[in-house]
Amino acid sequence: MRCYCCSSKPFNECCEPFIKGVKYPNTAEQLMRSRFSAYATAHYQYILETYTKEKQKDLSVEDLVQSAQGATWFALKVHPTLAANSKPNTAVVEFTAYYFENKSMYQLHETSNFNIEDGKWRYHDGVLHDDCGKIKYGRNLPCVCGSNKKFKQCCSLKNH
Ligand SMILES: [Zn+2]
Ligand SMILES: [Zn+2]
Repeated sequence: MRCYCCSSKPFNECCEPFIKGVKYPNTAEQLMRSRFSAYATAHYQYILETYTKEKQKDLSVEDLVQSAQGATWFALKVHPTLAANSKPNTAVVEFTAYYFENKSMYQLHETSNFNIEDGKWRYHDGVLHDDCGKIKYGRNLPCVCGSNKKFKQCCSLKNH
């Protein structure tokens, strides 16, 4: 099965070993992808543990379950990073995540900040872009997940 994060790799060679704690992500992008896959598979404990310590203080698994309720996360696009980042032990990743809620399609477009803590990448916070929210996407367009199938023959089928 192709990984939830829309990489070209299978789940068990991409995000699954990170979510299971068998391996740690080498890059902030890998961590971000694995957090997306954790949302897609409802592994909220992993999402909590991959926040920076400062953010974990104010969060619980229940908060994360609550905030994700009703959303079906189905595709992720990572944008090429333009801004050079000079601060050590930090990284910036821009992405758009797609989800269905109440039969509508939404996108979450965020530029996220990641820090290294105790040698591991952690998500700290992010800035949402203005184009977040409900979107209309043509049924005959190539699917947002990059499968090369038409949307109506691909992720659109997960909208129920
Ligand atoms: Zn993945
Ligand atoms: Zn698709």
